[in-house]
Amino acid sequence: MSDHNDCIFCMISRGAAPSHRLGEDQHTLSIMDIFPVAPGHSLVITKEHYENIFEVPPEVLAAVARASRRLALAIRSELKPAGIGLFQLNGSAAGQTVFHYHQHLIPRAAGDALKLHTRVPGVDEELRAISVRLAEQLAAVS
Ligand code: 5GP
Ligand code: ZN
Repeated sequence: MSDHNDCIFCMISRGAAPSHRLGEDQHTLSIMDIFPVAPGHSLVITKEHYENIFEVPPEVLAAVARASRRLALAIRSELKPAGIGLFQLNGSAAGQTVFHYHQHLIPRAAGDALKLHTRVPGVDEELRAISVRLAEQLAAVS
């Protein structure tokens, strides 16, 4: 649960690495994914380091669920996708690549292929522009 120096999400959480921030609460921080599989692909990460579902305490998991719901509402209001996928991976066999608990929110278009990752980085200016819009919406969601 302590800070893991080489963990990118711990660095983002403590402000030691940059991110496009959308909002935060006591236990969570919401940010843009820098390799978005769709415009608006965002993440709710825990502020503390927990590797996976097996380590994260129930009250923190509840905070992730609340933050995910608020962010889903903000994405729906602002980007109006046909749907939104939420997913979360545990263990490299499941496809987890960052071993710090996080929930993905991915806007979906009708009929698009289910894609969890891409190697194509987002354009920073586009990520920033979407993050400003989503952060404003998120602040208005209770
Ligand atoms: P996982 O595969 O562990 O479920 O998802 C990790 C996610 O973190 C991937 O979607 C990846 O694009 C994203 N990611 C990796 N490094 C960074 C980073 O430095 N900043 C942000 N915002 N996202 C990252
Ligand atoms: Zn971490």
